Amino acid sequence: MEEGSIALGEALIIGQTVRGRSVFAPRDFGAGSFIIEFGGERFGRDEYISLVDPDNNHFLQIDRNLFLGPTETADNFINHSCDPNCGLRVEAGRAYLFAIRPIAGGDEITFDYSTSMDEDFWEMRCRCGSAACRGRVGDFKHLPVETRDRYMALGAVPEFILSGLGNKPAVAGMIIETRAGAGFSSATGEARAALQAS
Ligand SMILES: [Zn+2]
Repeated sequence: MEEGSIALGEALIIGQTVRGRSVFAPRDFGAGSFIIEFGGERFGRDEYISLVDPDNNHFLQIDRNLFLGPTETADNFINHSCDPNCGLRVEAGRAYLFAIRPIAGGDEITFDYSTSMDEDFWEMRCRCGSAACRGRVGDFKHLPVETRDRYMALGAVPEFILSGLGNKPAVAGMIIETRAGAGFSSATGEARAALQAS
């Protein structure tokens, strides 16, 4: 196992930025490192649509008709970026973030919400501030082809999204260490907090 690739049960840092509560790395992580598992109660699509606050969406889609609800742990406060340092992986009904590039201690943890979205429902205006900012965040299928290809090459696109595109799942290039029953703090993207649907 590469150094820095296991972070089981390790607490991430929840801080405050202009975008609201945000999550930061407590130390350096190498590319491919496990970062956090998302927790939250499971809801079907109809329940999600009836429960979600579009201006403060803390749900995370993990299958065509399955969403993880809000939590009160770090996973709930991870912000979107159009140039993220983490990617999403969904395996056996569980959702994880892993580093898609080296992360330094103190860096904000981010992922691209579009890599979790194939829902034909919610969108948000993006203010991530990256040079690559798309301005809006919506379903993965609406991303530019080169952006989709990059996330697929990183193994950061869940199978339910790939199958919706008619693509075969990408072969995972990195192994994410998990441990059954480990006490990860988990959650769903309250990072979505700082976001606005318009
Ligand atoms: Zn952006």
